[in-house]
Amino acid sequence: MPGRKNITRGLRFTLTAVYTVVFTLLLVGVALFFRQSLANSLDAQSREDLEQNWAVVKGYLRIVNDPGQTNYHPKWFNDPNDSDESGAVAGVQKCYVIADAAGTVMDGSSNYEELGLNKLSEIRSVLQATGAVLNTRTDSDGVPYLIRASYVTGEDDKSRKFYVAIGTSLANNRKLLNGFTLRGVLLLLLIIPTGCIMGWIFAGRALTPVLEVARTAERISGSNLSLRIPVRGAGDEIDRLIETFNQMIDRIEINFNQVRQFSTDVSHELRTPITVVRGQLEVALFTAKTVEQYRDAIVDSLSDIERLSQIVRALLLLSQAETGQVILQKQQLDLVEVADGVVDQFQIPAEGADVTLEFINHAGRCTGEFDRVQIERMLSNLLSNAVKFTPAGGQVRVSIDRRDDVAEIRVEDTGEGIPAEHLPHIFDRFYRVRGAGEQASPEKGLGLGLSFVAWIVKAHGGTVDVQSEAGKGTTFIVKVPLSGPDAVSQADSSSTQNELVKPA
Ligand code: ADP
Repeated sequence: MPGRKNITRGLRFTLTAVYTVVFTLLLVGVALFFRQSLANSLDAQSREDLEQNWAVVKGYLRIVNDPGQTNYHPKWFNDPNDSDESGAVAGVQKCYVIADAAGTVMDGSSNYEELGLNKLSEIRSVLQATGAVLNTRTDSDGVPYLIRASYVTGEDDKSRKFYVAIGTSLANNRKLLNGFTLRGVLLLLLIIPTGCIMGWIFAGRALTPVLEVARTAERISGSNLSLRIPVRGAGDEIDRLIETFNQMIDRIEINFNQVRQFSTDVSHELRTPITVVRGQLEVALFTAKTVEQYRDAIVDSLSDIERLSQIVRALLLLSQAETGQVILQKQQLDLVEVADGVVDQFQIPAEGADVTLEFINHAGRCTGEFDRVQIERMLSNLLSNAVKFTPAGGQVRVSIDRRDDVAEIRVEDTGEGIPAEHLPHIFDRFYRVRGAGEQASPEKGLGLGLSFVAWIVKAHGGTVDVQSEAGKGTTFIVKVPLSGPDAVSQADSSSTQNELVKPA
């Protein structure tokens, strides 16, 4: 099996691979989404902390110019006995810097320098800005800080601005995020291979029935066509596949049996006249004495040989017709006149069988482009069947009507009819209903007549239907366009001769 030789070529591998890729992408996408959400909310939390610290600055920090002192200096006005206030101020003082407009640092935490909070250019731009400036800085240990830089005014001179930058460490946020990422990656490394294995197992289970179909198909051969795959009753796509496959085998079996039956029938058909001819010639050879006796033997043999060549011709013609090699010789014809002629030809055989045969014309004239030989062949086949399968005292009626540009020919009989189960098959090649009427009939057919009818009607762009009731009679209804698109497409527009008929 190709799947065994190269595992990557199998449907199971493809399904698993596609599933794993999609599954992985989905999981990674979900993980990234949650990581980003976590980062955003941690970020928002840090900003809020920083705003609270700024409120502490605004509440307790004053830049004062004490009497007797020359320079302004910062002073914290929190209650040293209030642990909340002291704690809040201590929190701010972990990372801060206060400088005047000239860039001279007035107070600050130990880390303000490594965070670069005292750069003169920055101090100037913050003092000129209308709102607070937020940014992220990293200290010498690589710890990130979120910095909020703004200004406060002098206590006694509100026009004097002092630069104040406070910061909060983002180390915990980073730690949390890194922990989340690590756990996420570990989880993915565990989930993805598990998902891949599960996918492989489920794909294998889902494909098992397909392999069964393949195995059964491998076992089916000409002598083993009755093999069917049992439907599992799950009502799923695989059951549909099995049903379709079984139906296909049904059709193949029917065709195969028909062909087999046909070979047997043809052998019988050919063997009988050959045996008869051989017998006649042998008898003539050993017993005939006069020229008359030789002549009689030759005449009898020729008549049997004629039957032989008729069979061979019919087979050849049908096979050529069905492979599109028969050329229709179309000409302007009146179907009424053709049908009338064919009915006339059947009057004598019908009388011989004690069957009443009549022709009724409702159409007046039905002129169109038709191949006379083929139309006559079609009507003859229908009429010979009707007469053949109608018992003595019965009736056969051929009628012709016209609706718009379509001619409708009906061949009705009051014969034995065709059982309903055979109706869908009677136009198939070599199909014969093995009924009492046929056995009684002196002229055993090959089951090709209606195949010819179907092909001829189709070649003329028409349709043929059959209605039948066992024991009551049969009606064949042929509809052919007198000048429809089908008829035109079948015909060469410049010449109505030499048109190749496509296979049925
Ligand atoms: P055949 O050469 O055996 O007549 P056909 O293809 O013409 O072959 O017909 C196929 C089968 O259809 C016949 O064997 C016969 O059983 C059935 N059939 C056709 N026409 C009629 C009919 N008018 N009445 C009853 N059975 C018919």
